[in-house]
Amino acid sequence: MTPDQIESAVAAAMPRAIEELKRLAAIPSVAFPGHPEEPVLAAAAVTEELVRSAGLPHVQQVAVEGSFPAIYGEAPPPPGAPTVLLYAHYDVQPAGDLAAWRTPPFEPTLIDGKLYGRGCADDKSGIISHIAALRAFQGRFPVGIKVIIEGQEEYAGERLEAFVERNPELLRADAIVVADTGNPRVGDPAVTTSLRGMAAFTIEVRTLREAVHSGSFGGAAPDALAALMRMLTALHDENGDIRVPGLPRGSFLGQGPSEEEFRKTAGVADGVSLVGSGSLADRLWASYAITVTGLDVPTVSGAVNAVQPAARARVTVRVPPSGDPKTTVNAVVEFLRQVAPWGVQVSFDDFTVGSGFQADSGGKARSALNRAMERAFGRPPRDVGAGGSIPLVNTLLKQYPAAEILLFGAEDEDAAIHAPNERVDLDELRRVATAEALFLQELSLPSALGV
Ligand SMILES: [Zn+2]
Repeated sequence: MTPDQIESAVAAAMPRAIEELKRLAAIPSVAFPGHPEEPVLAAAAVTEELVRSAGLPHVQQVAVEGSFPAIYGEAPPPPGAPTVLLYAHYDVQPAGDLAAWRTPPFEPTLIDGKLYGRGCADDKSGIISHIAALRAFQGRFPVGIKVIIEGQEEYAGERLEAFVERNPELLRADAIVVADTGNPRVGDPAVTTSLRGMAAFTIEVRTLREAVHSGSFGGAAPDALAALMRMLTALHDENGDIRVPGLPRGSFLGQGPSEEEFRKTAGVADGVSLVGSGSLADRLWASYAITVTGLDVPTVSGAVNAVQPAARARVTVRVPPSGDPKTTVNAVVEFLRQVAPWGVQVSFDDFTVGSGFQADSGGKARSALNRAMERAFGRPPRDVGAGGSIPLVNTLLKQYPAAEILLFGAEDEDAAIHAPNERVDLDELRRVATAEALFLQELSLPSALGV
């Protein structure tokens, strides 16, 4: 097929694909504990049907131990052609605060060319991008195709990792497309080349046998909440830079957002300054970040006049690709022990760690993608980093060290993934699907194979 034919085939496939995205996004496939399983399984069934409709001769649901099924599809490569694995996930984040949604989260609503609803971008847009790209070829694929659509990425997404390790041949490929990120802005093409890893733990501080009256004991009795606050505050200096030794600031080769863009996307209130130093790309993509994400303390409405005997906090650390999450978490824990005041009792538990990702500088698949994106977007992509982690990416990298992993997609920075009013821009989705189809074609060409 010529690039022109591919572009028109994808454009022609979009109206149907958008209807399918609406159907898929109407299913509340939240694979978190406490949410019903039926919708997740219903989304698996619809996803299977969609992958089947893309012209792959072999499609099945595969059981993933302790989790929801993944959808697997496959078409063998033409002689001498490479194989590409296409990844996305069909589970979504919970809707969160319903009052903050302008449209019901699970009633996909089209406004001004954008489809609003939980999962419309993350990551059901990824599924649709794969399907629309594949359909352009009407079953005659220029390269070998494997598709894996995961069913539990958003909640402790580590189960597919074990599956990959146990079935190494099933997902083996020369290039892997992870359609679960996006461009800095709609129409501004980018490939995500670095992801920060993550570590998290819970800290508990104990000072007293039980709560005591703040009138009778306050002023001398050690308050656990006060101690915990001092410790957490010590993690950053006045500028917001991290004070924990061994967590140096990194630098990102590539351009990040301007301060103005960032303030707008992050919704920073007027007069409030950003924290940390170095360029925004350095801070967001190549450096550590520590955030207190939860506190177990008395609420304001439940406040009584008492000195607290215990207080707990959840602490999350983002780790640049160059860092090791385990070493990092040890450094933070050690620091918190050292700054603990008054000999308070400190304990830590519920540790989780996940590694980051750094793409190689680029091989044949990346050059094929550059040409495909340049055609679909009118300019070549740039490298960007992303703050979130996709645990499977590291497993794939470990299992298939020779494979090139390419992260891109329709989740631009204003897509509000994991937040209220999530949306996907449908023109952007078409460009991403077009780029994906052009990429499959480009990769099959002799120039891409280095012949
Ligand atoms: Zn996602």
